[in-house]
Amino acid sequence: LFVTIEGTEGAGKSTNQRFIAELLGTHGQVEQTREPGGTSLGEELRSLLLQVRPDTFRFSAMAELLMIFAARAQHVEEKILPALEAGVHVVSDRFTDATYAYQGAARGLDLAVIRQLEISCINDLQPDLTVFLKVDAATGLERVQARGARDRFEQEKISFFESVQQGYLRRAEQFPGRFIIIDANQSLAKVQSSIAEAIERVLGQ
Ligand code: C5P
Repeated sequence: LFVTIEGTEGAGKSTNQRFIAELLGTHGQVEQTREPGGTSLGEELRSLLLQVRPDTFRFSAMAELLMIFAARAQHVEEKILPALEAGVHVVSDRFTDATYAYQGAARGLDLAVIRQLEISCINDLQPDLTVFLKVDAATGLERVQARGARDRFEQEKISFFESVQQGYLRRAEQFPGRFIIIDANQSLAKVQSSIAEAIERVLGQ
């Protein structure tokens, strides 16, 4: 299975990624990975994308988009496809839905351009299951600020995260078959029982 986990800042992706990996681990080998990143090149691109350097340059939204797809092309070719072909389950913290939400809905880039890149750079690879952790933008931002905002994106205004959220919700509407939306304002126990149910269902298919 190829499972992705998505959400805005402070939704609890990392904790729940480990939980998903543990569940899938009882059904075979599991590879945990993340975007942007996941390979040596991808991690280099990630650090360029995330660092805060307001005094040197401002990213053009298109430059940001192309760097994210450069990282993703490498990730799919070097890591995700070889794992899936070897029968290993892959759990990725973010994938292309994040691009529709952040660079599309929030930064305002043309969704048709993202769609073209998705087809040409990664041959339209889609997850089997996408777990979307839906947290109120304000709550998420509070969680992030409590741990200390670390990167360029975490310094955005609340309206940015609201747009990201809307972007994710539109993706979920378009792909109801693979998306599950989980209310991440709930307790971790409730979040995890919903996740476990979804994983069991997909494994049973
Ligand atoms: O998932 P994580 O919080 O580690 O992601 C790092 C940062 O990259 C986040 O702040 C997220 O907002 C940003 N990002 C982005 N566009 C993507 C993927 C991640 O702006 N397509």
